[in-house]
Amino acid sequence: MKRIFTTLVIVFSFIMQHHILAQDVPIQCKGYALFAKDGKFTPYEFQRHSVGSNDVLVEILYAGICHSDLHHSHGDWREETYPMVPGHEIAGRIIQIGKNVTKFKVGDFAGVGCLVNSCGECEYCKNGEEQYCTKRVLTYACIDPYHNNELTQGGYSKNIVVSEKFAIKIPNNAQIEKVAPLLCAGITTYSPIKFTHITKGDSVAVAGFGGLGHMAVQYAVALGARVTVFDITEEKRKDALGMGAVKYVNVNNPQEMKGLEDSYRVIISTIPSSYDPAMYLKMLKMDGEMVVLGLPAKQNTPSLAISTLVSSSRRKIYGSQIGGIPETQEMLNYSVAHNIYPRVEIIPIQKLDEAYKKVLAGEVKFRYVVDMSTLK
Ligand code: NDP
Repeated sequence: MKRIFTTLVIVFSFIMQHHILAQDVPIQCKGYALFAKDGKFTPYEFQRHSVGSNDVLVEILYAGICHSDLHHSHGDWREETYPMVPGHEIAGRIIQIGKNVTKFKVGDFAGVGCLVNSCGECEYCKNGEEQYCTKRVLTYACIDPYHNNELTQGGYSKNIVVSEKFAIKIPNNAQIEKVAPLLCAGITTYSPIKFTHITKGDSVAVAGFGGLGHMAVQYAVALGARVTVFDITEEKRKDALGMGAVKYVNVNNPQEMKGLEDSYRVIISTIPSSYDPAMYLKMLKMDGEMVVLGLPAKQNTPSLAISTLVSSSRRKIYGSQIGGIPETQEMLNYSVAHNIYPRVEIIPIQKLDEAYKKVLAGEVKFRYVVDMSTLK
């Protein structure tokens, strides 16, 4: 009897130990990383933290290239830590789930955007606005206090481990190769379009007609707004009108800039470089609002004299960051249901350096998406 009991204890402790070990196994990953400011992308092998009870392991199928990735790679905002695997527009498939996961099963499509964690306790987290939590964890280039202060690594890679809460369900009927940019460009523009209550007949301007801008145009047009696009090139005039904008203004053409004062209830700026915000403020109607999404480099940050706020009375200007997890899910469901997708160019991962140059030169229409199956 004693022997049977001892054997059972040994077997049980082996199972427990084995289970614990299985839980603690780090996930091997391959990606493309930068090793220095303005460096070149290089294949990089690293480990991600193990799949915890509430985590999912996502095999990354596609990853979008956001202009924020370029800002990071150029150290535009701060001194960065390397190696850095960028990428926060991720679409993939669930290949493993933790024991408490209920939202996903293996084989489901899932997306990951700019956030992989937050405190879960502050008023922003409780309101589903995790992007404003002071303890939020960004998908890459961020210290993760919830996982031994590891440096997070992004989506230009084979897989990612994330808690199920921060993984977004992608409907089965989605055009999966176009979904990744929705996880950042989509939600960042969908959110202000919702909270400014854009509606049928509203006059709306979108400044900067790139990855974010062309999503803003599509969402605003779908709601029946009369949309004007501002950009610096002739190349995108036809595309803007084709997406339903009623007007396209090339800001480098002084003739086109005439007579636009008091014109718009909402202006959404996605401009990633230096510009004059006062110029746009004057185009707002009384009580109109300008939402700033674009994040130019530190040394090129546009400024606004406080007196301009007084002279442009009751016209508001403020910023907005991405969107919370519940709203990201809402945006994804809405986009797929209404067939609103980014226009994408699919590229192999080996073309990352070239793609970055082309984004800076304004040569992409409108988002590069990396096909991760090209990463061997
Ligand atoms: P893109 O490069 O895809 O698009 C930017 C667009 O702005 C391009 O069409 C560019 O023209 C145009 N542009 C550049 N300068 C001007 C100007 N002076 N006036 C009008 N248009 C101009 O960038 P993304 O859309 O990916 O990102 C835009 C910005 O938003 C970035 O700064 C990014 O970091 C930021 N961002 C902010 C987020 C947030 O949460 N607030 C989230 C994600 C991104 P051209 O192509 O001809 O150069």
